Amino acid sequence: MADTRALYEQVILDHNKNPRNFHALEPCDCKVEGLNPLCGDHFTVYVRLEGGRISDIAFTGAGCAISKSSASVMTNVLKGKTIAEARMLFTKFHQMITANPDAPVDEAALGKLRVFSGVREFPVRIKCATLAWHAMASALDGHNNAISTE
Ligand code: ZN
Repeated sequence: MADTRALYEQVILDHNKNPRNFHALEPCDCKVEGLNPLCGDHFTVYVRLEGGRISDIAFTGAGCAISKSSASVMTNVLKGKTIAEARMLFTKFHQMITANPDAPVDEAALGKLRVFSGVREFPVRIKCATLAWHAMASALDGHNNAISTE
């Protein structure tokens, strides 16, 4: 268990240091700026859609290691997914990190996203981990305005 935790931590640190899809995407179909005033995280998520799928997704901004690595892993996981799949993954991800720390993790459904399962032991970090996801979901809803976790 301790080894798993160390491995997960390593993945998070790697994505924080070398974030994937970390650039603006213009033109795009929708972009939403997400703010987490509690921690000072602020990111913009850009989405390009094609035939009901996320053909490309990227982000810019700055924040703590959890928020930045979460945005990075999210863009990696969601590229090529359908809108329905993206929403379903957000629901699963949200359930995982707001669950009781002892609850089992649905590893099959969550795949790489499970590296953030440790966040549920730090409730104050939940908003950091979900910020980019909220922005993504708002973008898929057709919004182009900013969202805030507060
Ligand atoms: Zn944060």
